[in-house]
Amino acid sequence: MALIVQKYGGTSVGSIERIKAVAERVIESHREGHQMVVVLSAMAGQTDGLIALARELTEDPDPRELDVLMSTGEQVSIALFAMAVKSMGYDARSLLGFQVGIHTDRLYGKARIHEVETRRILEELGKQRIVAVAGFQGLDDHGDITTLGRGGSDTTAVALAAALNADVCEIYTDVDGVYTTDPGVCQKARKMRTISYDEMLEMASLGAKVLEIRSVEFAKKFNVPIHVRSTFTKENGTMVVAETKDMERVAVSGVAYNKNEARVTVKKVPDRPGIACQIFEPVFEAGINVDMIVQNTSEDGITDLTFTVTKADFYKTMKLVSETAKKIGAEKVLGDEDIAKVSIIGVGMRTHAGVAKKMFEVLAGENINIMMISTSEIKISVVIEEKYTELAVRVLHEAFHLDEEPHEDQ
Ligand code: ADP
Ligand code: ASP
Ligand code: MG
Repeated sequence: MALIVQKYGGTSVGSIERIKAVAERVIESHREGHQMVVVLSAMAGQTDGLIALARELTEDPDPRELDVLMSTGEQVSIALFAMAVKSMGYDARSLLGFQVGIHTDRLYGKARIHEVETRRILEELGKQRIVAVAGFQGLDDHGDITTLGRGGSDTTAVALAAALNADVCEIYTDVDGVYTTDPGVCQKARKMRTISYDEMLEMASLGAKVLEIRSVEFAKKFNVPIHVRSTFTKENGTMVVAETKDMERVAVSGVAYNKNEARVTVKKVPDRPGIACQIFEPVFEAGINVDMIVQNTSEDGITDLTFTVTKADFYKTMKLVSETAKKIGAEKVLGDEDIAKVSIIGVGMRTHAGVAKKMFEVLAGENINIMMISTSEIKISVVIEEKYTELAVRVLHEAFHLDEEPHEDQ
């Protein structure tokens, strides 16, 4: 008998028919004698719909209330799922984040999980029930509802798997595994049998939304094996595991893109000590994550500063930075939402040279202008015009031969 945590994403529970199919699948494992904890997302499109409702009211919805609103999507799914299981003659209990005891900090919209209680879940499992937990939500130390950031149900699942010491955490989704790039964009994308936690971390942080980044962080920290697989087939998917020596044999193992960032440029900033601190302090204090930062060489004591934030934080960032720009005497603040970040990832980059050169050549060959560049040990990212995203992904995938099996055992 195993304790299995399964997570089903929005498409997997997108209709009553699909919820019934998920219930059947879970019941099958339950009948085999496994203890089943099932984390569900909101039905496809629900979270977006709730956000759109809030935005009809205001551009800048109150973060606490937005979390109260957004968290309702998952409540609908778990209730319907539990009803479906019961209508099939088995027992199930739906539990919201606060009923489980998923404790988070107070950063509405991107709260981090501090602690997960297991008492209630174990009690329900002890009664032979299937337990359905609402993904994406928790509660802060005031007892208020928080949400974990888009795609956060993955994190709920892995955090529960870690806390419950589950045998495996299965992430069921609308693709049958982790691919070398988004199969929705590149037909030649190849399914990987395994991927290392570190590569998956980079892929996730650079936009491959198949797994939410914090779920991978949790998995790596607590050594939770993740199996990413399809809701619609029985085939094995991709195992996310610790790195093996073999994985370094290829320089590049994946391409990711992210259209969810926006660029902010502060023009003609006086170039003196303390300026970067003045510009970024209010942004960081507001809990906004800044991604790439580029500062031009200064000319006559004046420089331009450009950085990226998520589109969700764009409006707030523009407001904060515009206030600071006035104070420090910068000329103006420009915003650009029509950008995308395209990245190549591979643990093998540590030992292979010339990868950046090849990436830039390939993009130049398609006349794609690079606006910003950032690198780490195992990735290179560029910011380009959004309209070239798919093209860039495809040509890079091709140039690095990602459609070909890199070695026998992958
Ligand atoms: P869910 O609703 O199940 O959480 P998501 O939409 O969040 O599903 O994630 C699955 C999607 O991630 C796929 O449909 C696919 O388009 C996208 N995706 C992006 N990059 C990759 C990748 N490298 N491998 C697999 N899927 C990817
Ligand atoms: N429903 C949330 C979202 O759409 C969480 C999730 O699906 O993981 O982002
Ligand atoms: Mg997801």
